[in-house]
Amino acid sequence: MNLFDAVSAAKAAYDLAAIAVQARDEVKTQAAMTDLRERLWDMSNTGLSQVQALHSLELETQKLRMQLSESERAQAELQAKLKEDAQYKLAEIRPGIWAHTLIEDMETPVETRPNFCAACYANGKKVPLRYISALGDRTEMWRCLADGAHTYRNFDAPRKPHNRSAGWMG
Ligand SMILES: [Zn+2]
Repeated sequence: MNLFDAVSAAKAAYDLAAIAVQARDEVKTQAAMTDLRERLWDMSNTGLSQVQALHSLELETQKLRMQLSESERAQAELQAKLKEDAQYKLAEIRPGIWAHTLIEDMETPVETRPNFCAACYANGKKVPLRYISALGDRTEMWRCLADGAHTYRNFDAPRKPHNRSAGWMG
């Protein structure tokens, strides 16, 4: 039953009760009053459930609005990330060693330009790699500043002797 029908039924029951009262018909008045009470009860129940339905609709709308602004925020974030990612390129800095580099730095020698850890980059973090040149027994490597396990070694790099002046001078 919708609220309009419930109100109409209650009004009809009230009219019947009023007629019975005017006619001073005790039996009809009792019956009409009972009917009116039921109609009023129906009306308030219908009204209440409609208010509840309206309220839950309002909550649903609020939830949708929040989801919308959340997805708008996520989309803006994604666009910003894509725009930022477009400034970087995955580059092979040595055979088999990959790092992310700013496109504007691509022409700079790999030892001196900022290179970013590919493992961290995959996790959404841009962490610079520290360059360590080959020296003595040490291989040339790039080490992630966030995680020492992200160390990229180039075993093929020519090694310089520890101390050029010792043993090589005359
Ligand atoms: Zn890393």
